[in-house]
Amino acid sequence: MKNSKHKMKKSLGQNFLRDEKVIEDIINAAMITKGDVIFEIGPGDGALTKKLVETGARVIALEVDKDLVVDLQKKYAQYTNCTILHQDVRRFNLPAYLEKEKITSYKVVANLPYYITSSIIRFFLESETPPKDMTIMVQKEVAERITAKSGKLSVLGISVQYFAMPEIVMTVPAEAFDPVPQVESAVLHIKEIQKYGSRTKKYTKKFFQIVRIGFSARRKMLLKNLTKSTKYEKEQLQEICTHIGIAPTARAQELTLKQWHKLTQNM
Ligand code: SAM
Repeated sequence: MKNSKHKMKKSLGQNFLRDEKVIEDIINAAMITKGDVIFEIGPGDGALTKKLVETGARVIALEVDKDLVVDLQKKYAQYTNCTILHQDVRRFNLPAYLEKEKITSYKVVANLPYYITSSIIRFFLESETPPKDMTIMVQKEVAERITAKSGKLSVLGISVQYFAMPEIVMTVPAEAFDPVPQVESAVLHIKEIQKYGSRTKKYTKKFFQIVRIGFSARRKMLLKNLTKSTKYEKEQLQEICTHIGIAPTARAQELTLKQWHKLTQNM
């Protein structure tokens, strides 16, 4: 299956999957049925694409590397359930595409390019038209941050858990890829995705503004960060924190998702 002609582009995060068992496990974790529409980001030389197409689902694969797109379009020309688009995912007009193709529901299944993992996840979760679920290969350390429990939350963990339920399906050794990357990987399944976390766009904006301010200087106390960058006086913020059960000495990473919500509602 190795594509000897293709010169790997490290800058595009090109580490291709070579372990058939891992590919099978991703397909199983995605729980695909024939009527599904799947967006694959970065099909590469098509290792995962092939198995996705074989499920009978409709596959739409977005690849930024023109050389790979040419090969893939040739390879999948005879499959009516596969579309290969030459497209940078970050510039993809998803709502327009969904409307044009009359797609009302879709999933994302991908071995992501790691250099833009969080922007791809945010692109889909924050979309006007989010996916039903996402099954994605990411760097193991990133998967752990995304699924971190209360008390160890980061901005990344909060940004995913605000919208959905992420869980690690399995970890994947570096040797499953070619070339072998320097990091371990993990497959994440992000389910129960809700538009704006079922809240309004305005609330969501405010929530993340507060979270970003809270984390602006990680070593400093939350209260200090909030006093510096919001219109509130220190005493007012102290009162709000006490009211919702946040210790005045707390640092941002110690808060639970629920406490971030309470803070947003009280400010
Ligand atoms: N799916 C293949 C596999 O599992 O073997 C390849 C995965 S590789 C980790 C990531 C792929 O994403 C590469 O093919 C790369 O060219 C592509 N890619 C990188 N940046 C992209 C972008 N901005 N938009 C779309 N695809 C991108």
